[in-house]
Amino acid sequence: MNVCLLGDGLISLTLAKTLINNKIKVFMYYKHDKKPSKQTRTIGISSDNLDFLQKRVIKIKKKEFWEINKIEIYNDKNKEKRMLDFKNSNKKLFSVFKNNDLYKLLEKSLKKNNYFKKIKISNKFSYNKVINNHKFNLIINCDANNEISKKYFYKKFLKNYQSTAYASIINHNISSNKKAIQIFTEYGPLAFLPISKTQTSIVFSIKNKRMKNHLKLSKEEFKKLIIKNNKEYKINSINTLETFKLNLKILRNYYYKNILAFGDILHQIHPLSGQGFNMTLRDIKVLIDLIKEKENLGLPINSSVYQEFENKTKHLNLLFAYGNDFIYEFFNYDNYYLNFFSKKILNYFNNNKLLNNLAIKCADKGLII
Ligand SMILES: Cc1cc2nc3c(=O)[nH]c(=O)nc-3n(C[C@H](O)[C@H](O)[C@H](O)COP(=O)(O)OP(=O)(O)OC[C@H]3O[C@@H](n4cnc5c(N)ncnc54)[C@H](O)[C@@H]3O)c2cc1C
Repeated sequence: MNVCLLGDGLISLTLAKTLINNKIKVFMYYKHDKKPSKQTRTIGISSDNLDFLQKRVIKIKKKEFWEINKIEIYNDKNKEKRMLDFKNSNKKLFSVFKNNDLYKLLEKSLKKNNYFKKIKISNKFSYNKVINNHKFNLIINCDANNEISKKYFYKKFLKNYQSTAYASIINHNISSNKKAIQIFTEYGPLAFLPISKTQTSIVFSIKNKRMKNHLKLSKEEFKKLIIKNNKEYKINSINTLETFKLNLKILRNYYYKNILAFGDILHQIHPLSGQGFNMTLRDIKVLIDLIKEKENLGLPINSSVYQEFENKTKHLNLLFAYGNDFIYEFFNYDNYYLNFFSKKILNYFNNNKLLNNLAIKCADKGLII
């Protein structure tokens, strides 16, 4: 069986490795030579998804990631009083990877595999040749910016958060560093995600209207905001800054003829809860199980699997993406109304073990209906 993957991002590589582990040949078509360094980006992966990654995608040594067993949530009006507290003392809540490290691990393991071939797309017209090649049982597009996405996957629900995510890594004094912190500030949510005893990744999503003339923050301004909101670390230095425009995008139709859209093309969400890649890992699980099921029944694997994949995932992805957006808007309004809502609701949430566990389960396994 031959599968064509378009794009060579983290998602495409993860899907490729899952497929070849199941003896499926993968032909990966990619566009450009010059790659972003992505040194400062990190990714939090839930326990359930890490389990899937380890068992069915790639074995990863413990030294490659950092485990978190507590999440505390604050607002910037009162940084001393926690609004919410999620902890799981005997189990990790999630694990944090440097994007680049995970990317390189996957890339290395694919390179030496006979089931894998990587082919450079010479120009935008070459896509037609690829999608009309009958040797492919499935064509899966993981690149949100290629010609195929522009031509066939443009009908989507789009919400522009009018915000920019600033991502970097702070270097600080040594600490056990097992606790993630989220602060809902008047600028937008700020997350501290530990990655080692001396390094913590930060993602600060800032509303453009808060910036002078709606311009980007300079590194100095960013540093000042971090120092103002930091109560945990003695910061020695801050690494380079990367920025991302923030949108909520939900694709209307998951496939077009013989091409399935995948990853961030299907659902791109606000990074405040660190769930974008986690949603895709859950999608990979569903897709590979569908393919295996068909194979075991001796049925042909073709684009009919796309509709089944859409039936199994679309409603859950939709609910999850809107749930994430609801959390963003809730804290947005709450900040505006001086935390009137959160004071009442979150106190109840915090003291209710059932609700607290439900939130942890939802972030770990997604929505299971
Ligand atoms: C600020 C921010 C924080 C996030 N945090 C989380 C989180 O904690 N948990 C979570 O589940 N999701 C998170 N996400 C979402 C997650 O990052 C995306 O879903 C995921 O990275 C999309 O992968 P991709 O394959 O589409 O493209 P990406 O992997 O993001 O890459 C885009 C392109 O860059 C190139 N590229 C990428 N990395 C490399 C590399 N190392 N070397 C060479 N080329 C490379 C590839 O050509 C690729 O096409 C976050 C998103 C943002 C913007």
